[in-house]
Amino acid sequence: MRVLRGLFFVCVLAALGVTAWYVSGHYELSDRLTGLFLSVQSWLPTTLDFDQFLVILTVASLLLASLIFLACLLIVSFTVARLGVARQRQLGHAAASAKEVHHVRDERRRQYEQLTALGQALVSHLDKRMIVQAIAEATSRATSMEQADSVVSCWLYHIESDTIRFETGFYCDEATFTQANFQLTELPFARVISTQKPWLISSVAEELGILKPYKRVQLGSLTGAIIVPHVIEQSVLGVTVILCHADVLKRYADQGAYYDALWAELTLAMAIAIQGEVAILDRLTGVHNREYFMKRFHQEVERANRFHVPLSVLMIDIDNFKAVNDTLGHPQGDAVLRIIAKEIKRAVRAIDLVGRYGGEEFIVLLPETGEDAASGSGTMVVAERIRKSVEENFQGMQKPLNLTVSLGAIQRRYPEDRDLDYRELIRLADEQLYRAKTTGKNRVCMVEHQPAGKDAKTSGEDAPVSP
Ligand code: GH3
Ligand code: MG
Ligand code: MG
Repeated sequence: MRVLRGLFFVCVLAALGVTAWYVSGHYELSDRLTGLFLSVQSWLPTTLDFDQFLVILTVASLLLASLIFLACLLIVSFTVARLGVARQRQLGHAAASAKEVHHVRDERRRQYEQLTALGQALVSHLDKRMIVQAIAEATSRATSMEQADSVVSCWLYHIESDTIRFETGFYCDEATFTQANFQLTELPFARVISTQKPWLISSVAEELGILKPYKRVQLGSLTGAIIVPHVIEQSVLGVTVILCHADVLKRYADQGAYYDALWAELTLAMAIAIQGEVAILDRLTGVHNREYFMKRFHQEVERANRFHVPLSVLMIDIDNFKAVNDTLGHPQGDAVLRIIAKEIKRAVRAIDLVGRYGGEEFIVLLPETGEDAASGSGTMVVAERIRKSVEENFQGMQKPLNLTVSLGAIQRRYPEDRDLDYRELIRLADEQLYRAKTTGKNRVCMVEHQPAGKDAKTSGEDAPVSP
């Protein structure tokens, strides 16, 4: 640029100089120019006189100067244009980063609102399933990208079976999961539970595909996954599995604080969901605890009186259970208690109430169950079913694991027994249990009612009812 500018001035000055000198009669210069003219004359295509040569030389110099001037102009305007673009680009960048700041702020606000909404959603539910549903929904929202919604499945730990079972999900086909349950020791659940940290999986098919239900999930663009453990003080509550877009994993590290807060909130929610259940369940066996059972028992007796329906009570005690503890140890004894609790639950209807009365004794309440003209005593049918199922479960085992149970039963009729409250019913059933124990164990003894007008007598006065 500088060179061009210099050339331009040189040309202009040269042209002006030549003209001025010539006009003002400087003939030394004229002599030199004449010399130049003579030396180039033979090269020129036409015959020119000296004056014409000078005019052409001047015009040529001016033309050259104009050309150089134009070139300068072009270069200047081009440079200005380029500077303008650069400036615009700078402004653009500034605008973009301002936009980015807004975006980040919006994102933070959205995340905060999500956490707040989640908290509100959780306190508005009391039912465990509703809370877990809210958890699944919030998790899906928090981990969805614009182009893809995350598929969330929530799994809860069940103490009575010592398994992790599918509870509910969001955007997930529940039919795929409903029957699924896993041991705590199974991968990939075992990994997150032992580390107590979320596991980010970049290839779902590889890592989660080992779990049967996930083999059937249509993944589409959801190639990533996050498995979040919900553990409070070594106590496992459950696990949330999120199938998500790979981009969610990419930005995970940037949003670590948000996700940590989210997982903590979800764990708390899950604890609240389960707490409701824990308060009414026996931690070891998963049947109702004694306190809750008694409350319900009292209510059911009142309901039976109001609706004029019978109900029955079974007291169940494991035979020779002490020997299991003494020979195999307490943990093995606990495992046996769980198995028997499960057998009892399997043998009764969903509306029947099973509770742990204490130690190795269980109690069962059978609403609307009594004497049936067609099938005899419904109570005895259920009691026998329980006795047999336990006997069969442990059949073939060696001592002390060839376990059986003894049962004491009572049917509360209406209106004859309307004055029997739940305490009296338990006392009478317990008497029958004692009788079953003293007459050989592995049997059912039941209070047998006499026709109206006579006192009740027991079914085992002459002989035990079974086996
Ligand atoms: P019986 O046939 O007369 O019922 O004999 P038993 O050995 O079952 O009777 P007993 O009532 O003398 O023993 C009950 C045992 O149950 C004693 C106690 O150590 C055990 N037990 C009570 N609660 C638990 C528990 O939560 N876990 C384990 N492992 N054992 C328990
Ligand atoms: Mg016992
Ligand atoms: Mg006992």
